[in-house]
Amino acid sequence: MNAATILKFKGGGVVTATANRSLLDIAELLTQHGIGCIVIVGKDNKIAGIVSERDLMRAIGQLGPEALDKPVSDFMTKNVVTAREADTGEQLMSEMTVHRFRHMPVVERNRLIGLVSIGDLVKMQIAGVEMEATATREYAGY
Ligand code: AMP
Repeated sequence: MNAATILKFKGGGVVTATANRSLLDIAELLTQHGIGCIVIVGKDNKIAGIVSERDLMRAIGQLGPEALDKPVSDFMTKNVVTAREADTGEQLMSEMTVHRFRHMPVVERNRLIGLVSIGDLVKMQIAGVEMEATATREYAGY
């Protein structure tokens, strides 16, 4: 199972915003879409950063509610680790574990084509185990 297959199942849509949006805008986007992170893009949809609910909590914890009026560029992670379509689920999980984050944008030919979260990886792993169990049961005639 690689990133391309995961995106085929979940779809390639990525919620993005520009770096000048306020942290409150980001909180609203996260809530509206029921997601944990937003990819921040610049010109030509190029990745400029990533901001997750964890950054939001840290900003509020440090600055209080005033943080919400500030631009997301003050709080986003600028050095974004991305994945390729061919990367396997195991590789992505290993990257996420090493770097201690739960999201990886997928980039091909300099284009953002999707985002894989730790939740997607766990879901795919469970689906794989269930398929294997079904196949084994059918093989055994149960
Ligand atoms: P998360 O676990 O995804 O909520 O993110 C934890 C921290 O890592 C936050 O500070 C994020 O901005 C950052 N982060 C999340 N995903 C990435 C990524 N793919 N590359 C670099 N930093 C990231």
